[in-house]
Amino acid sequence: MSEPSDLYFRQVPIGPMANFIYFIGSRSTRTCVVVDPAWDTDALVRLAEADDMKIVGALVTHYHPDHCGGGMMGFRVPGGVAELIGRVDARIHVHKLEADGLKQVTGVSEGDLVRREGGDRLALGDVEITFIHTPGHTPGSQCFFVRDRLVAGDTLFVDGCGRVDLPGGDAQQMYESLTGPLAALSDDVVLYPGHNYGPTPTSPLGTQRKTNRYLRIRSRDDWRRLMGR
Ligand SMILES: [Zn+2]
Repeated sequence: MSEPSDLYFRQVPIGPMANFIYFIGSRSTRTCVVVDPAWDTDALVRLAEADDMKIVGALVTHYHPDHCGGGMMGFRVPGGVAELIGRVDARIHVHKLEADGLKQVTGVSEGDLVRREGGDRLALGDVEITFIHTPGHTPGSQCFFVRDRLVAGDTLFVDGCGRVDLPGGDAQQMYESLTGPLAALSDDVVLYPGHNYGPTPTSPLGTQRKTNRYLRIRSRDDWRRLMGR
């Protein structure tokens, strides 16, 4: 597979919870977005500067503080979208069902947001990012598809999937997301998860379809057994 030359893409491990942040952009326009920019705003801004890339947006997979900063239920994370948009001229792309939760957790205002829905696209130079709505971990969880890569947040991990027992989680919706939009992607698409929980930081979906039990579901009964209900 030849690497398309305009795509700028970096996976960055960050913070004590094994999160991954992603930079996605265009080498020709020197513009990029940052996916789930929590924990250390200085480090992210410096990294973009070192690569001569201008941050023009923040993409949020879901509103949990380890992905977007801020706090909920006594759990607080430094950095995040509120701090980032104080440093760079950018708006926050969040699924419309996640927008109110994001405002509560991070304190950002409506004018800071671009409310997204599944099927939306964002272009940077020749690079096009497609938003995929994948509820289950939270109601407005979304994945980002660019070229042959899936940035999946807490929907899908290498050899795992996101928890559905947290507030807003829904096992049935997770089943629909895994067997619907994500099942439609081809085997050579590479999974880039929101946490480094697996044996490798990335994995092709073709491999995941063999090793990840959450992608080996044949029926709703299988799923219910796997979920222990
Ligand atoms: Zn989460």
